[in-house]
Amino acid sequence: MLKLLPGLHQFKSEIHSQNEKFFERLAAGQSPDAIFITCSDSRVVPNLITQTDPGTLFVIRNAGNIVPAYSVDSDSPAEEATIEYAINQLNVKEIIVCGHSGCGAMTGLLQMDKLDSMPAVKKWLKHSERTLDIIASDYCDLDWECKISAAIQVNVLVQLENLRTLPCISRRIINREVELHGWVYDIESGEVYIFDPVDEEFKAPVKTVDGFELDSARTYSNK
Ligand SMILES: [Zn+2]
Repeated sequence: MLKLLPGLHQFKSEIHSQNEKFFERLAAGQSPDAIFITCSDSRVVPNLITQTDPGTLFVIRNAGNIVPAYSVDSDSPAEEATIEYAINQLNVKEIIVCGHSGCGAMTGLLQMDKLDSMPAVKKWLKHSERTLDIIASDYCDLDWECKISAAIQVNVLVQLENLRTLPCISRRIINREVELHGWVYDIESGEVYIFDPVDEEFKAPVKTVDGFELDSARTYSNK
């Protein structure tokens, strides 16, 4: 804890004091551009990789960037309640699910038999059993590293499907009032790959004269 105190002091005395007007506006309320669902992994820093200021991203984090699918039989998990608040109260219209390279949760998912010492983790990862099923049926021939890479990508797509089951999302999808996006962040290269639903691949965005487009030559699978 003591290691963090110099940072608190530096933030207050330098960053905050040099941007008083900005923080005054922030104190008055939030109007984030997107819900950003990602892993708790300490190496994934949403505002850093998107180069955004505080107030831009409404962040939800947990092991494996998981959104439990809607169930009438169980209590609403924290993820659903947090998403519902952002959609209903803050009127957020974009949701990003962002997985990442080297994800410990996805490694754990692929070897559930080794998680007996962490029963809570094992129980949590069951929300992503669909990912495990897809890897077992469609990617069983891959080597271990490629299998983890596939699980990271498949899991993002599974969580997008889970999002669609939430009542607060499903009715807005029909009216096109909310957009869902799947991303994978590669820690080593710093590249973020965005899912292209047409080609069904995660592709790196490239800058063009008109803005940005997804580069078919640079996919997460081929990185
Ligand atoms: Zn992770």
